[in-house]
Amino acid sequence: MDIGEPQRTIVVEPIECPVPADLRPATASRLAAPDLAEPVLGWRLWSLVRGRKGAPRLSSATRAVEWPVGRALGASCGCGLAPAADCTCGIHALRRPEGLFRCLDVDVAPPSPYVVGLVGLWGRVVECERGWRAERAYPLRLYAAAGDGGDRAHDGLPAALAVYGCEVDVVRGGVGDVLAALAPHEAALPPLRSAR
Ligand SMILES: [Zn+2]
Repeated sequence: MDIGEPQRTIVVEPIECPVPADLRPATASRLAAPDLAEPVLGWRLWSLVRGRKGAPRLSSATRAVEWPVGRALGASCGCGLAPAADCTCGIHALRRPEGLFRCLDVDVAPPSPYVVGLVGLWGRVVECERGWRAERAYPLRLYAAAGDGGDRAHDGLPAALAVYGCEVDVVRGGVGDVLAALAPHEAALPPLRSAR
């Protein structure tokens, strides 16, 4: 996932926290003078890992980072300021889903099952050419990619992933089919409101 060069850093403080209210901890801290009052919406790709008690959990497709249920994933980095504009740290997400599968200019899907979806990004956010690097993130909508044919092995995934508190759909087929399934939802995204 190549999000390109950093353009600017903004502060995003959603009026409504993207973590579902019945899942998140009661504490919430307010940042001063946010640039946006809604989460930035970006696209992500995950693989699935077995969490505690064997239940499927989202994991970064490139690193062994499990996405927690009911609380934001927080960025961390040795630079001490994740995300820092002059670093590569932060939770990455793309403006458009096409680039999720782009590696060395070849569209390659990870081994099935994998999950694509929209995440809400907030906190300090570094805007880049094709996406963002954020301080905090939570999944808002998930699409479990179940591969080709009549493979029913992943039918239980929507129910299992519903613990994240967002809608989960199953999409079948190759990369092209998955992107086609995402397209209508992309168009339905609300415009970002400025807090100022
Ligand atoms: Zn860093």
